[in-house]
Amino acid sequence: MTAERVPQLIGNSLAPSSGEEVEPIYDPATGETIALLPYSTESDVDRAVRAAASAFPAWADTPVFERTQVMFAFKSLLERDFETLSNLVVQENGKIIEEARGEVRRGIEVVDFATGAPTLTMGTNLDQVANGIDQQLVRFPVGVVAGITPFNFPNMVPLWMIPIALVAGNTFILKPSERTPLSGMKIAQLLAEAGLPDGVLNVVHGGKRVVNALLNHPGVDAVSFVGSATTAKYIYTTAASQGKRVQALGGAKNHLLVMDDAELDASVSAIMSSAFGNAGQRCLAGSVVVGVGNVAEPLLHELVQKADGLRLGPGSNPETQMGPVIREERRKELEGYISEAQGSDAVLALDGRGAGPAEGFFLGATIFDGVTKDMNLWKEELFGPVLSVMRASDIDEALTTLNASNFGNMASIFTSSGHNAREFRRRAEAGMLGVNIGVAAPAAAFPFTGWKNSFFGDLHATGSDAFRFYTRHKVVTSRWFKSSNGPVTESA
Ligand code: NAD
Repeated sequence: MTAERVPQLIGNSLAPSSGEEVEPIYDPATGETIALLPYSTESDVDRAVRAAASAFPAWADTPVFERTQVMFAFKSLLERDFETLSNLVVQENGKIIEEARGEVRRGIEVVDFATGAPTLTMGTNLDQVANGIDQQLVRFPVGVVAGITPFNFPNMVPLWMIPIALVAGNTFILKPSERTPLSGMKIAQLLAEAGLPDGVLNVVHGGKRVVNALLNHPGVDAVSFVGSATTAKYIYTTAASQGKRVQALGGAKNHLLVMDDAELDASVSAIMSSAFGNAGQRCLAGSVVVGVGNVAEPLLHELVQKADGLRLGPGSNPETQMGPVIREERRKELEGYISEAQGSDAVLALDGRGAGPAEGFFLGATIFDGVTKDMNLWKEELFGPVLSVMRASDIDEALTTLNASNFGNMASIFTSSGHNAREFRRRAEAGMLGVNIGVAAPAAAFPFTGWKNSFFGDLHATGSDAFRFYTRHKVVTSRWFKSSNGPVTESA
């Protein structure tokens, strides 16, 4: 059976690019090719930008209550196809079905939030700023937005961007990950079914070349990016240097501080899900555990015992507890980090190499103890099921370690002390903080607030930040003369 060629969507045309570059899309749990992805050409990108630009005036002029009607219809279709969408995530990404359902649910929550556009795009006004003069701030859409997304949340991350950008009156070009393009295509198909006019959402495919064509296109007004830190910085500098509005969310190295007054069982279970959920391929994955004081030994023991028992396999099997990593090359890279760390002073407490089914790109849960700040294990985002355990004598030392990281996406503290929690909230240098929570993900009404190399830009994804990112303001200053207040009569 020949694998299906994934189409791109340009205006009302849904057809595969005729470009020569073609990427196989694998099921990471089996290594089988499930689709072929022809990359868009520069001329495809240009056509997509033109389609989005020509759809913009009518869509921007559409009353916001009509734009949100499309989102209400889209929401019903997402609910109708909830299982199909979740299975698609399992198939192209490899995560287990429960995690896939969680991802789709999180995406739908952004659609729910976006339906509040009539309130969230309201302006403000101030009467009588000077004698007889009033001022009014009015929000308008930015124009054509390009959204470039990663492989690890193929459904949710496009949904962080598209619903909010669209209800705010923008048109959009999605460039999904070239490793997981199927969920993005399904989203586009459902939005068309929901009544979105042609050209308001377009989808192109590819890697760096296609991204560059978008970044350098004068018709693209704003860029929303989610991916690794190096790419995020590149996207930010390249697009901003051309006067485009940019938000670029990058990678992470999230620290979980465990105090010796923490509830051990509940903390271990939260850490397990944080470190090994989605095989560690989450920007909110806890990849460093800092055991403070006496808790480090029993904590390590519990983590190793639980991680050793994780059942690896295809995400479609409800018994599976951890799926594969995205590609064979990623597994090899991760194994390279493990081998390198074995030559250091870190102690390999659990070795996941060789675990899981032979077919597919599996790596078992791996834990290093005695990790220190000079090691690559600590410095770099590994983005896989590899957990580093460190020790600290008190909260000050633990916070010093956390704050030395170049990343600042998320951090959590596990404690039963309000004082420790407060110190942590005030002093931890990360944008998303958890207290006795393993994955401290903001709900859609809040922004996704990474710091340091985890974010480049000013206004973050989702929440009120996103509405500000996808709109620009006018401040109108008005004065009305008395003579213009009534009809001019000839006899007066
Ligand atoms: P990636 O940076 O490799 O790719 C992301 C997107 O950028 C893809 O669409 C890809 O085609 C494009 N791209 C890749 N290299 C490029 C280049 N050199 N020039 C231009 N475009 C390029 O990221 P990934 O491997 O798909 O995703 C995993 C990364 O995303 C991790 O680092 C993870 O932490 C991060 N992430 C961050 C968040 C967040 O909210 N901060 C959320 C999800 C994922």
